[in-house]
Amino acid sequence: MGTPHSTLCKRCGMRGVRKRACAGRTQPYKMFAALRVPSELAIPTCGHCGAQLPDAQTAEALAAALASAFTAELSHRAQVALAEICRYISQRRLEKLAGLSQGYLCRVLSGRSTPSVPLVALLTLLAQAPQERLRELEVAWRQPSGDPSPAKQNAGQSAQP
Ligand SMILES: [Zn+2]
Repeated sequence: MGTPHSTLCKRCGMRGVRKRACAGRTQPYKMFAALRVPSELAIPTCGHCGAQLPDAQTAEALAAALASAFTAELSHRAQVALAEICRYISQRRLEKLAGLSQGYLCRVLSGRSTPSVPLVALLTLLAQAPQERLRELEVAWRQPSGDPSPAKQNAGQSAQP
C-alpha cells in the first residue's frame, strides 16, 4: 500500500515510491565500481522492488554528492597509499620521482589539494610493493629513453646466450 505520499513505481508497478535516505548505498562512478552515496541523501526509492527513481532535483543533488564523494575518495586513497610508501622514501624524494612540486604531497596529506586520478593510480601501484616499485622507478628514470625493459635488472641472467 505505501504511505499517502508514495507514488507508482515505474519498474514494478506497485505503489511504494517515496524519498528514502539510508546508509550503505553505492553507485558506479567513473573508474570506481562502488562509490558511497551519502547516507543523508534522500532518493525516491520503491519500497517493494528497491528501484531508485530520482527526479530531476534529486538527480542534481545526487550528481553533486557523487562528485564530492569522488574527490574525497581520491584524497583518501592517496593518503592511505602515501602512508605506506613514505615508510620507505621521503616525501621530497617521492615528489622528485613523480615530477611533483615541492610540498605538493604535504598538501595532499592534509586535504588541501585533491590529487589527480593518474597520481592516485601511480600511488596505488607504488603502495602495493613500495620497495620494489620505487627501485624500478629510480632505475627507469636513469635509463636512456626507449629502453623497453628498464626494470629487469634483478631478473637473472640465465637467458643470456
Ligand atoms: Zn518497484
